[in-house]
Amino acid sequence: MYLYNSATHKKEPFTTHTPGHVEMYTCGPTVYHFAHIGNLRSYIMEDALEKYLRYEGYDVNRVMNITDVGHLSGDSDAGEDKMLVGARREHKTVMEIAKFYTDAFFDDCRKLNIKTPDTVQPATGLIPEFITMVEGLLDRGYAYVAGGNVYFDTSKLTRYHIFFDHDEADLEVGVREGVEEDRNKRNKNDFVLWFTKSKFEDQALKWDSPWGVGYPGWHIECSAISLKYNGEYLDLHCGGIDNAFPHHTNEIAQSESYLGHPWCPQWFHVHHLNTPEGKMSKSKGKTLILTTLEEEGYDPLSYRFFCLQSHYRKALVFTWENLDNAAGAYRKLIARVAALDPGDGEVDGAVLEEYRRKFTDAVGNDLNTSLGITAVYDALKAGTNDATRLAIIGDYDRVLSLSLLEKAAVKREEEARSRQTASTSGGFTVEGEGDPEIDAIVLRRAQAKKEKDFALADRLRDDLKARGIELTDIPNGAKWKRI
Ligand SMILES: [Zn+2]
Repeated sequence: MYLYNSATHKKEPFTTHTPGHVEMYTCGPTVYHFAHIGNLRSYIMEDALEKYLRYEGYDVNRVMNITDVGHLSGDSDAGEDKMLVGARREHKTVMEIAKFYTDAFFDDCRKLNIKTPDTVQPATGLIPEFITMVEGLLDRGYAYVAGGNVYFDTSKLTRYHIFFDHDEADLEVGVREGVEEDRNKRNKNDFVLWFTKSKFEDQALKWDSPWGVGYPGWHIECSAISLKYNGEYLDLHCGGIDNAFPHHTNEIAQSESYLGHPWCPQWFHVHHLNTPEGKMSKSKGKTLILTTLEEEGYDPLSYRFFCLQSHYRKALVFTWENLDNAAGAYRKLIARVAALDPGDGEVDGAVLEEYRRKFTDAVGNDLNTSLGITAVYDALKAGTNDATRLAIIGDYDRVLSLSLLEKAAVKREEEARSRQTASTSGGFTVEGEGDPEIDAIVLRRAQAKKEKDFALADRLRDDLKARGIELTDIPNGAKWKRI
């Protein structure tokens, strides 16, 4: 596969340290609030990437952290711990908040067909490893203690890696949020590895350390968690473009200084989800979460479809109209898959193989999921039988994860049920969509008419109408359908 690498700013052939095996790391959520749909876009695209690598035959070990301590309101050591802000907002403890929003995050993932990574590690579960890494950085001369905190010394680096291809606004984060200059820092870009002194005295979670009771900085958790579960050589690091600086830059600084060798050669960043007003973020007004979409009647997978239709390196504009278009296209696609007959012929292995190649040509070019969806439409028209067409679509869906075959099967069943002719009673036939309760009302109405109880017959017709049922008289019976 070819993948754009934000560390080199080029599209490159994907490589791994160990042939056939991928060590992959994903920055997980900070669980102080629901993930907004912009965050979820990143997880959808990273999920597609992982599944695509598996589709190509790689064995993938994917690791993700859960940030439940140390992520301050500013990404650059400024402000209060986000977890504490969340706990105060909801009058709960930090651990209650962490549990609630971690569960909510994985609920969203499940609804979006996002696979849970092989290892998920909450930061609070690995404090001794963070301390070991901070000690190692001090031993190697890359860190210093000042004012009770431990800082990473960026002046010791030959290269403080910055990803150049993110927005100017992101680059300014460090500057903007560092309004209250930390006087302990020797260099502007230095960052905290371990806090013991914070202006917020009620930091809820604290641990003993060689530098006093305190808590870890945000960046150290990803370096240490990846080192523990991915090993010394990471192949692919993923995250939202927001994380490129300072977070990923600082991860590289810590990991390479600690290990003494290059750490992760390939970086995958998913770009913003914007609204017409600008970038979507939790800090700006009302944010959209998956539940909002569900409350508006959208199938969460239509949001996945919406994201896959666009390239991960382009900013995607969310409007209800855009989502409507995607939801409509997704429904139509399922209807077209449902129209295929699974009993039509045997799967033709050669055709399946030919279409697999078409898919890897398309999606293997920098995770072009939009072309991956186009490939599904091509498969619908493939010059073969329906069994093979369905096999191709099922094969593609291992990556797209749109539940195409499952939803098509449900639709086929529904359609079969709606064609059913229901009960006949006293020579009166009811044709409907296979709902015995509705059939019974229709029969009662026929009986009322026969007994000339027209008031009851009218009432029953109104009742049906209120339930959204359209009734048509047919010879010796009635036909109903939902409208
Ligand atoms: Zn991270």
